[in-house]
Amino acid sequence: MIKDNLSEVQRNIASAVKRSGRREEDVCLIAVSKTKPVSLIMEAYDAGIRDFGENKVQELVSKYEEMPKDIRWHMIGHLQTNKVKYIVDKAYMIHSVDSLKLAQQISKEAQKQNKTCDILLEVNVADESSKFGLSCDQVCETAEMIAKLPAIRIRGLMTVAPYVDDPEKNRTIFRKLKQLSVDITNKNIDNVFMDTLSMGMSGDYEVAIEEGAKYVRVGTSVFGERNYSINKEN
Ligand SMILES: *Cc1c(COP(=O)(O)O)cnc(C)c1O
Repeated sequence: MIKDNLSEVQRNIASAVKRSGRREEDVCLIAVSKTKPVSLIMEAYDAGIRDFGENKVQELVSKYEEMPKDIRWHMIGHLQTNKVKYIVDKAYMIHSVDSLKLAQQISKEAQKQNKTCDILLEVNVADESSKFGLSCDQVCETAEMIAKLPAIRIRGLMTVAPYVDDPEKNRTIFRKLKQLSVDITNKNIDNVFMDTLSMGMSGDYEVAIEEGAKYVRVGTSVFGERNYSINKEN
């Protein structure tokens, strides 16, 4: 079942890549496995998936420990500074950096652990009060400050677009994130790379690819609906 879901998502990704004249290797599917058990995630692993996304530190850590070591774990959820130390050596990339304070903590822990940590800045493009992320006009200034920290490397931007019935409605959001990354690139800030856009979820990943996504984060279309009664916070 997971295998069939994956085939469909991968087919859709391939068409979007083709439509937009991009290269297949420039787009990567992150299977968002939050709330899902290891047994189910292993089905995706066995089908060839190596990038998984989690939004909770505890869950990422326990799955990291239980699952094969060639998996790239992406931290995509809101991160508290006091939990940074648990994931700096386990997350392949932290997509959800939304403050200088959080970046400072990541830098400090990464230094301690002799690592360089790749991060994305989360941007609340649609300015939704329910969402985390920097506002568009804070991004550049924050990037400049974070860029000066040791052991941390800004690789791009991430956004969680609004929940919409028609994915076309999010095209302007994705376009705006891309434009922001171009604006930042043009500032030539030392130690800031803008090679990664993380955008697009089950409802709108094809549009996100057309607008330049490198990572699409797809949960429901791969693993099915999540059961919120078990863990209300997800
Ligand atoms: C849960 C989640 C996703 C996946 O959402 P689906 O709609 O299930 O594909 C993507 N990104 C973030 C940040 C999430 O928390």
